[in-house]
Amino acid sequence: MNPEKKLQQSVQEVETEDRFLKISETYLTLQGEGMHSGLPCFFLRLAVCDIRCTWCDTPDSWSGGRWMSERAILSLVPEHVALVQVTGGEPMLQIRRLGILLQSLHRAGKKILLETGGHRSLSAVPDFVHIVMDIKLPSSGEAHHPFHENFAYLKPSDEIKFVVQNEDDFRAAVHWIQKYDLARRFQILISPAFGVDLKKLAQWVLDSKLTVRMQLQLHKYIWGPDAKSV
Ligand code: SF4
Repeated sequence: MNPEKKLQQSVQEVETEDRFLKISETYLTLQGEGMHSGLPCFFLRLAVCDIRCTWCDTPDSWSGGRWMSERAILSLVPEHVALVQVTGGEPMLQIRRLGILLQSLHRAGKKILLETGGHRSLSAVPDFVHIVMDIKLPSSGEAHHPFHENFAYLKPSDEIKFVVQNEDDFRAAVHWIQKYDLARRFQILISPAFGVDLKKLAQWVLDSKLTVRMQLQLHKYIWGPDAKSV
């Protein structure tokens, strides 16, 4: 089967199936990014993504995965861990059933982070969820997807993440931040793709005069750039 057809089939399956959630992997680690960086966090990675970022570090989640019931998923979440990150793949593909799990995790007292590529509507995400939304830049190869309507569903405490691979990417990020006044409205993360010259990126951030946060992916420095499930 050609890759495009396989992709369409995987997406259609997770969007329309009545089994609960298709999961790529689960694990306990330290949160490596953003405002909750360094905290113990249970990761729930949903299977299947409908786009293909060139620098994606979780291509194993693009397809495959296994169906799990809500009960089976909840039984894996350690009681002592307060933070749960729902990521992918693209978790919004399964929001119809994911919403049930988000409510259950909330009732159990967990703080929930939801990481999304930003190209699917966030209208169905409950207010108690902390959203981390990407805006894709040119080097991702996926910068053509609309994301602007999602600003209406973000709270001031939510994060918008730009993964920067080169100076053109950084310029594009500055363009979007200025155009939509994003640095005053939300928490902005400038995140280097692994291997980017950090000193250069730091200088671009300083020269931009924007109040944005440059972040490093902590887990890649602790466990190495190729380590999986960390
Ligand atoms: S949206 Fe996320 S999972 Fe999908 S290709 Fe991009 S980085 Fe990978």
